[in-house]
Amino acid sequence: MVEARIPHSLQEALILMSQATYTIVNGATDLLVQKRSWSGTIPKFSQPPLYIRGLKELDYICERSGMLEIGATTSLETILHHPKTPKILQHIILTMASPAIRHQATLSGNIQNASPAGDSLVGLYLLDASIVLHNRHHERVISIQDFIVDVRKTMREADELITKVVLPIDKFSQCAYTKVGPRKTDAIAKVAFGGLIDIENDRIRDIRIAFGAVYKTVLRSRKIEESLMGKDRSAVPEMKHVLLEGYASLIQPIDDQRSNRWYRKTTALNLLEAFLDSISR
Ligand SMILES: Cc1cc2nc3c(=O)[nH]c(=O)nc-3n(C[C@H](O)[C@H](O)[C@H](O)COP(=O)(O)OP(=O)(O)OC[C@H]3O[C@@H](n4cnc5c(N)ncnc54)[C@H](O)[C@@H]3O)c2cc1C
Repeated sequence: MVEARIPHSLQEALILMSQATYTIVNGATDLLVQKRSWSGTIPKFSQPPLYIRGLKELDYICERSGMLEIGATTSLETILHHPKTPKILQHIILTMASPAIRHQATLSGNIQNASPAGDSLVGLYLLDASIVLHNRHHERVISIQDFIVDVRKTMREADELITKVVLPIDKFSQCAYTKVGPRKTDAIAKVAFGGLIDIENDRIRDIRIAFGAVYKTVLRSRKIEESLMGKDRSAVPEMKHVLLEGYASLIQPIDDQRSNRWYRKTTALNLLEAFLDSISR
C-alpha cells in the first residue's frame, strides 16, 4: 500500500521530499495515462504520490526583471491566455491536447515528462528557457537544453521540485510552428518544427530553429543558426542547400507506432525549407 500526501505549502512539499522519495503528481494528465490499469482498478504508483497541483504559491505567471516567470502549477490554458506569453508558446499550446486537458496540464509536467514529442519543449528550446528547481536547502537554475538529457531523462534529483520556468520577453518579429499529426490538435506529434526570427532592415539579427520528434531530445543547432546571423535576408536562398544538408545530417528519427524515419525526416526538412523560403520573401 502507498500513502498519498497533499502538502499545503511549497515548504511542506520540500520537507516531505527530503524525507522520502515520491512521485510528483501535478496535473496528472501524463501520469494517469502512464500508470493506468486496464482492469479498471485505480492507477498503481510504486512510490507514494505527492499532489502539488493545489499549491497556490506556484500558480502564477508574471513579469519580473524583464523576464516572464511561470509557476510550476500554472495550467497551460492560463499560460495560453496571458498577454505576455511569447507568441510561439501560444501557437504551440493551442495544438496541445484539448481545452479540458489544458486546464489541468502544466508546463512543468510536460518538461519533466521529457518526451521527444513534448510540444511545449520546442518553444522552450527556441526561447532558451531556464528551469528553476528547489529542494529543502537550495535552488538550481538550469537551461532547458542541459536539463533534458535523453528520452524521458532529466537532471532533476529525487528531492527536487521544478518550481518555475523563466522565459525572455518576446522580441521576435516572425514565428512559425507546425505540428504534424493525425489531427490538428489532441494528438501526439509525428514531427514538429518551430522557428523564430528577428529581422531589422532586412538583416537577420537573431534566428532560431528547432525540431521535435526527430531526435532523442528537441533538436537545435546553434552552429547552423550562427551561420545565418547578420546575413541579409536575400542571402538565404543561396545558403538553403547547405542549411538543409546541415540539418539532414543531425536529424535522427525513429520508427514507431506514430510514424517512420523516412516520413519524419522528409517532413522535417520540407518544413524547414518552407520556413527558409518565408524569410527571403
Ligand atoms: C488526451 C491527452 C492529450 C494530450 N495531448 C498532448 C499534446 O498534444 N502534446 C503534448 O506535449 N502532451 C500532450 N499530452 C500529455 C500531457 O497533457 C502533457 O505532457 C502535460 O503538460 C503534462 O502536465 P501535467 O501537469 O499533467 O503532468 P503530470 O502528469 O502531473 O506529470 C508528468 C511528469 O512530470 C513530473 N512532474 C510534474 N510536475 C513536476 C514538478 N513541478 N516538478 C518535478 N516533477 C514534476 C511527474 O512526476 C511526472 O513524471 C496529452 C495528454 C492527454 C491525456
